[in-house]
Amino acid sequence: MKKLDALLYHLPSPLQVVKHDAFTQRGLQLLVKRDDLLHPHVSGNKWRKLKHNLLEAQRLGCSKLITFGGAFSNHLAAVAAAGMEFGFSAIGVVSGEESGVENPTLGFAQACGMELFFTSRANLRNYTETKLLELLKIDAKGAFILPQGGANCLAIPGCREIVTETMAQLGHPPDFFVTACGTGATLAGIASGIAEHNSTALGIAVLKGDFLQKEVESLMAKCGEQSSKHPTGESWQMLNDFHFGGYAKWTPELIDFINDFKLKTGIPLDPIYTGKAFFAAVQLAEQGFFQAGASIVLVHTGGLQGVAGFNERFGDLVL
Ligand SMILES: *Cc1c(COP(=O)(O)O)cnc(C)c1O
Repeated sequence: MKKLDALLYHLPSPLQVVKHDAFTQRGLQLLVKRDDLLHPHVSGNKWRKLKHNLLEAQRLGCSKLITFGGAFSNHLAAVAAAGMEFGFSAIGVVSGEESGVENPTLGFAQACGMELFFTSRANLRNYTETKLLELLKIDAKGAFILPQGGANCLAIPGCREIVTETMAQLGHPPDFFVTACGTGATLAGIASGIAEHNSTALGIAVLKGDFLQKEVESLMAKCGEQSSKHPTGESWQMLNDFHFGGYAKWTPELIDFINDFKLKTGIPLDPIYTGKAFFAAVQLAEQGFFQAGASIVLVHTGGLQGVAGFNERFGDLVL
């Protein structure tokens, strides 16, 4: 498993200057942190979240990864790819019926050698990981267990590196980071990274409801991570108005935005996470949310593997 060193000495992802009318017209500097380019298959924030987990798995001498996720999960695909690349065997517990195995995400995971087990959504929600593994008769001996979405304490230091990398590239902290939020672990990492800087992190919830603020707070507390208040208010906040109806829900307006953004900037987005986060950032710019002269870093958290599955379900909507 020597190749794991590659995780420590990786190149920073590009920080791309992007011209977009909504920003330039208002004197805002727009930058995109291209974490989608970190790795061809362990993309975006999944790479960030897995980094220290994989190093820990190696340190503990674990040769097997076990994780959990939905049938189109970016996390599941990332764990499968990381397992193959770094020599771990991998097991994925998937919510839903075995027939879902036809989709591109699960096909990819299996092609990477991940062994899949299926269980109901209710089981995934209600049982503890240990109980679920018992129920499915999965041998967890010598396994390193990653929660759904990879959202544990070891995910946070990797996501914090988004901030340190960006500051090194930019030479100063940007005024804003914007990132999509599913579990909130990525935002927690960014929030802890900016605790000592004059920078604000905005999380865009891609799920309906207003529970993610609390999730981030409790994750940070559980993991002993600090955030801080700026003189002007909280250093991070969760925005709950850009979920487009809920997780994996979409509207034609969202699809148009994603396709238009790609035509204008050359940057591909996905409809589940980054499309919603970037849409939110453009709306906020248009509403005058950012003060003139502000620098705004949109974190491209990856997720492009999900586009094929989306297009397969809904017709080739996303360019
Ligand atoms: C998983 C994922 C997220 C959500 O990250 P959290 O740390 O769970 O909030 C955001 N963007 C993309 C592309 C993802 O795959």
